[in-house]
Amino acid sequence: MEENLNNKEIPLSEVLLKYEKKWHTLSNERILKILKTNQNTGLSTKEAQKRLEEFGKNILPKPKKPNIFLIFLKSFLDPLSIMMAIAGITSLIIGLVSNDFQPADKAGLVIVVVIILTNSFIATVQEWKSENQKISLSEKQQKALVLRDGKKTTIDIEELVPGDIIFSKSGDSVPADSRIIDNQLLKVDESALTGENEAVEKVDDIIKEAEIVLGDQKNIAFMSTLVVEGKMVGVVFNTGKESEIGKIASNISESKRVKTPLEKKVTKLTFFIGIVSVILGILIFGVAFSLKNRADFPEDMKSIYKQMLLAVSSAISVIPESLTIIVKICLMVATKKMAKKHVLIKKPKSIESLGNVNVICSDKTGTLTQNKMFVDGLYVHGQEQDLKEYDITNQNDLINCMALCNDAFIGRKKEKVGSATELALIEYLIANKINYLNLRKTNKRLDEIPFDSKRKIMSTVCEVDGNIVAYTKGAMDYLLPNCKHILEGDKVRPIEDKDIENIKSQLMIFAKKGMRTLGLAKKDLKDLDDEFENKLVFIGLVAIIDPPREEVAHSVKEAHDAGVRVIMITGDHKVTAFEIASRLGIADEEHQDVITGQDISTLSEEELRIKLKTTNVFARVNPEHKAMIVDILQADSNIVAMTGDGVNDSPSLVKADVGIAMGITGTEVSKEVSDVILSDDNFKSIISGINSGRNVYEKIKYSISFLVAANISQVLTILLILGIYQTTALNSVNVLFHIFVVETIVAIPIGMQRERSGVMLNPPPTHKKESLLKGIIIQICLTTFFNTLFAVLSYWITHIYLNGQDTKLIHDYAKGGVYIVIMFSPIFYAILFNNRFLPIINAHKVTIVDKYKPNKWLLILMFVAILLTILTMLPFDALNEFFDFKTVDLDICLLLIYILFVALVPICIWSSYRLITYIMCKSQNNSKKIN
Ligand code: ATP
Repeated sequence: MEENLNNKEIPLSEVLLKYEKKWHTLSNERILKILKTNQNTGLSTKEAQKRLEEFGKNILPKPKKPNIFLIFLKSFLDPLSIMMAIAGITSLIIGLVSNDFQPADKAGLVIVVVIILTNSFIATVQEWKSENQKISLSEKQQKALVLRDGKKTTIDIEELVPGDIIFSKSGDSVPADSRIIDNQLLKVDESALTGENEAVEKVDDIIKEAEIVLGDQKNIAFMSTLVVEGKMVGVVFNTGKESEIGKIASNISESKRVKTPLEKKVTKLTFFIGIVSVILGILIFGVAFSLKNRADFPEDMKSIYKQMLLAVSSAISVIPESLTIIVKICLMVATKKMAKKHVLIKKPKSIESLGNVNVICSDKTGTLTQNKMFVDGLYVHGQEQDLKEYDITNQNDLINCMALCNDAFIGRKKEKVGSATELALIEYLIANKINYLNLRKTNKRLDEIPFDSKRKIMSTVCEVDGNIVAYTKGAMDYLLPNCKHILEGDKVRPIEDKDIENIKSQLMIFAKKGMRTLGLAKKDLKDLDDEFENKLVFIGLVAIIDPPREEVAHSVKEAHDAGVRVIMITGDHKVTAFEIASRLGIADEEHQDVITGQDISTLSEEELRIKLKTTNVFARVNPEHKAMIVDILQADSNIVAMTGDGVNDSPSLVKADVGIAMGITGTEVSKEVSDVILSDDNFKSIISGINSGRNVYEKIKYSISFLVAANISQVLTILLILGIYQTTALNSVNVLFHIFVVETIVAIPIGMQRERSGVMLNPPPTHKKESLLKGIIIQICLTTFFNTLFAVLSYWITHIYLNGQDTKLIHDYAKGGVYIVIMFSPIFYAILFNNRFLPIINAHKVTIVDKYKPNKWLLILMFVAILLTILTMLPFDALNEFFDFKTVDLDICLLLIYILFVALVPICIWSSYRLITYIMCKSQNNSKKIN
């Protein structure tokens, strides 16, 4: 396979094609030669730009956009559309067969078609919007660390080109298909590509066999796979759609959207009401059928066809079909709103889970604190130094340990790369005019053990002035027991108990100020194989300030007011952790304990469970302790949100009811397994998320109570008038039109009302399986009662008012009255269905009432509904015949009575509800006093 690599005529893309599927068989040198790159300097910016034009951006083919026409077609499979279609077709068939197809029946058919089309249209728009939202979430920008013009720099991964030298470490997602040229204990999770769950150990040697599967190409790191351990240097050979994942990405169909628990609950409720509706339908048909031979039974209802239609449409009208659409809209609006508040929802179910959370377990660093660290204390040579006065320029060991046992750096564009802790050390060196990059160049790194949150220390072995020196830095509890010597002046002497005491008391002084502490140590090695991280020489102690975020104390209070407990789980020192927790209100008088990782290891599960009840601060914990804490909290029926950023946090993120990854400092691995990503890493955003989640639940509850009450009232009215007056007050056209107005026009904006902050003053739900009807039963009962009562009263009052006149005339007028009350009442009382007017009863307490914020959409659509309903009543014969409304020359007095009834329905609902809730509050206060 010899080719003329110097031949400038052949474009690189063509040269690369020859090596497809053979990259693993080539040596490092050969690959670098083929890709015309250099391991030490990488590509030049100019060359990279040229290659970007030749190869295109390193982006994966976008998932196929859903076809809007298919979505529209699929929406007809919705249960509402199916039921409506059945009703429509039945009416058409029976009408044609019985030769009894009148204008009103045609109107019925038109309404059925309008309802089906309107619902399909709304469902299609919602589905289409939420699909596009999903796509834009997957398009978030990632960064890669590369070598360009001889310097390490971070770039957007879409700018990577073949020939780029990249660096990936534990927690990263591999940015492009790369041949590994330097492997340090690299383990990669390739499940996204191969389906294999076990992480693969990688190598940097040649693999001779040419024809091997991707999983066996162990010297290659594939794009979008996740580094779970170790690190590597690689050279990119394929990007974007040419990468292995790129080749299959375009064929991957969008995973099917699974129903969220809320949607499942709504479906269950709808199904239950469906059963009730069938029973009511049969009842209506039975009663109407048994009365049909009565002389005064309305002529137009005497045919079985009409009775069946009435029964079918009444049954359909009971079911709150538009609820599924309302839930979808609510979830979609909430996802969008949350994204604006830095909460990226990966799975729709997390919105509801967030609303139900009653414990938040939060990391300290970066989430509760600002992660803007700077060195503010130094203890060397047995005393605390004044940083302003102290000159470190001749403190070689101190400087070397800070610069060489450190992976952070300030990039070409002044971007800060690395952990905040290490950056604080770099910035301290820069402030003291020390060129850390030069030090790294002259003192080559020979070996290293990277920092991990379990060991809490890191070490590097470097060649310093011809000697081999190991530097170790990290948490003092792990470092100090391994120090056998101490540096004093320029001498090394054995460490004494007094030194240890002094160091420990200085540590406490720093920690009590809420500072993060790092011990620095070294060891001179005879050769590279010598053990390090033991028998160390203690150099000094650095204290770093990481101030709490200003807004967090308020957010913690908000969480407490919302009945949500906040627990801090940190790898930091217990005194530092407690100090920060106290400043934020996480540790208070009732929660003065701190449990450390060491305590957790010695406690039994039961002891830990008891301690957990009174402890809000966990310090020096390892990631596996986090998973234990989640387990215990969940076993106690808590709904837990857990934050995490590292690779090792994955188990606890998966276990928690809501796993929250950090968008800025979080590893790709943690983001992959989480349910929610905080794009600003801020604790405050979790509280916004809980607020939105709770609002979704509340809006759905209001939609349910409105729909159930309006629908049942209509059927009850039909049944009661059938029972009392042995006649039908509404026919199928009226019923269908009611469905159209209530379900399709008025109910949907109830689910779109504005979010309110008062939900955060309610207690959280008591358990996961809490019924959707909890807290709204009284609303439903009162609304149903008054709506039905006034509809029936309107029939009764017409009889009284027109007593002695022609029965047919009385019936037509009375029917008109029922139609007016049953149609207009819900349109008007819809305005009550918010927290200001009908506060939900939550955990036996009436929720805090917020100021009324007008619901713009509801007001507009109420207006539309009123217009449409008035239209059906206008005195035109054709219209009246169509909508079966016969009160053409209605008596003005009667009309005023009907209007009064329509007005009385919301007034009665509101006043009786407030009275009942007032009595409830009173009795609760009294019972508290008794207790
Ligand atoms: P949180 O879990 O709240 O984010 P944290 O960031 O303090 O807590 P870790 O990153 O596990 O937790 O750090 C624990 C301790 O390890 C720190 O207190 C510090 O002493 C030490 N440490 C942190 N980063 C480094 C590092 N890069 N090198 C050496 N030691 C470190």
